[in-house]
Amino acid sequence: SGDKTVTYSALLLSADQICSLLKNKFVTDGGLVEAQDGFPRGVRESLGRKRDGPCVGIMTTPSPAFVAAVWGAWLQGCVVVPLCLSFPEAELMHVVENAKISLILVTEENRKIVERLAAKTSAELVILPRIETLHGKGEYATELRHKVRLDIESRVSTPSDDTAALIIYTSGTTGKPKGVVHTHSGLGAQLRLISEAWACDSQDRFLHCLPLHHVHGFINALTTPLYVGAVVDFLPKFSTNGVWHSWRKCYPVDAEASECPITVFTGVPTMYVRLLQGYANMDPQLQKASAHAAKQLRLMLCASSALPETVLDEWESVTGHRLVERYGMTEFGMGLSNPLHGEKKAGFVGKPLPGIEIKVDETISDVEGVGELLFKSPSMFREYWRQPQATKDSFTEDGYFKTGDTVRIDEDGYVKILGRTSVDILMVGGFKLSALEIEAVLLQHPVIAECAVFAIPDNDYGEVPCAVIVPSVAYAATGRKTLSLIELQSWASERLAPYKIPKKLIALESMPRNAMGKVNKKELRKTFTPIS
Ligand code: ATP
Ligand code: MG
Repeated sequence: SGDKTVTYSALLLSADQICSLLKNKFVTDGGLVEAQDGFPRGVRESLGRKRDGPCVGIMTTPSPAFVAAVWGAWLQGCVVVPLCLSFPEAELMHVVENAKISLILVTEENRKIVERLAAKTSAELVILPRIETLHGKGEYATELRHKVRLDIESRVSTPSDDTAALIIYTSGTTGKPKGVVHTHSGLGAQLRLISEAWACDSQDRFLHCLPLHHVHGFINALTTPLYVGAVVDFLPKFSTNGVWHSWRKCYPVDAEASECPITVFTGVPTMYVRLLQGYANMDPQLQKASAHAAKQLRLMLCASSALPETVLDEWESVTGHRLVERYGMTEFGMGLSNPLHGEKKAGFVGKPLPGIEIKVDETISDVEGVGELLFKSPSMFREYWRQPQATKDSFTEDGYFKTGDTVRIDEDGYVKILGRTSVDILMVGGFKLSALEIEAVLLQHPVIAECAVFAIPDNDYGEVPCAVIVPSVAYAATGRKTLSLIELQSWASERLAPYKIPKKLIALESMPRNAMGKVNKKELRKTFTPIS
């Protein structure tokens, strides 16, 4: 993390300390945590599984302290709930109250931010112990050679363990965030699926700059490398300079790569957009060094929302990497992916990982081959926390999870995400159309840097597409504010069927996005729907 190195053995030592700390806080029975009274029952409780431990919130900047806190909580049988330091208080209170969190683990540095929340929710704060760090490179190399591999399956849980390990709240794109309960066995399955799909091993080093309260940052970019004994470099807050600098440091132009250099990077589409903007602003020499460094990484991945094809192409021309686009959800982690080796199709999120079954429910659509994506995976979540009805409703009778995403599968088995059925599928004059497909076309317009398309009500057609755009920096510099609707429509008429052409255009200086770079279209629709 930064210039300081924390070894696996120091992490485990700290986790043991945290485990003892927690033991003293909860009612224990011969060293085992007893579930507190009133603990909500999961839907499978009646099948006689072990009881879940109490929920513990963890609220720190991405750092080794976070890792030790997670391991310590698991060792003590607690359920981990990662909390985001920058969330508005109301949202944090929803999570703390919904998960009945009575303890929040926090570092001394982050204590001030969390104190108010603790006072309002009567959760107790527990300050995490400091972890011993190394400075000397020699020591570091020795530790790498004699690495203590974190064996989650043997130390922390067993593969058949159906008790809760983790509750992650969904992004809240379509409603109030739901607490998604992952068991130890489901988590183990996720780690095996991801590490195999990405061919990760202990020689890898991940650059981590994602929030930890979502599966992408928690599982794909952190728990997975730790599971295979790899190294994780924390860049606590994403910045384009920080990322480019980290890569350049590992791979200097005129020298050998550094010892154990960064090999894997995973991000969301907005990060790649920002990295390209950062690159465009560099002087030619720095550009050369940056492109050289990026080319040396083994793997670069993208997920969480649709990756515009323009970004995919531009990234490839700068770094030589064709990004591996993949698809996942809080409910089952990573599920579909373009292959590591083999064709990476633009606009597609790839095929199911081994062991995952998918189906398309075409009853929701009138177009053949288009429908809701249904999913079966060994990594499937156990339940929505304290929402048994929502849990039941989200599965089909034959046990498939209903993703809520509308998709099309091509002749090679690659899946195309057409969008969320509830907000991205528009019904225009009886035709169903995909907002994501319109967005992909609009992004080809030289003036449009970002865009979001959604439905607004219309007397004649029922719904019509409305486009919110952010004009490119270069265009804004010309002094003009934005495109006119007529200009956009005339350009789009050569590329889109008439009913797909936006009937309303709004230009914003920046796109409102959440921590994962997702646009909340429900909010946009509320803001820009004319009051009738
Ligand atoms: P909520 O469930 O609270 O509405 P959310 O669905 O955004 O929020 P997440 O679980 O973080 O919460 O996101 C999963 C969703 O993200 C998927 O259902 C899908 O719509 C979208 N998604 C993920 N990866 C991709 C991708 N590569 N391309 C397009 N969409 C994606
Ligand atoms: Mg969702």
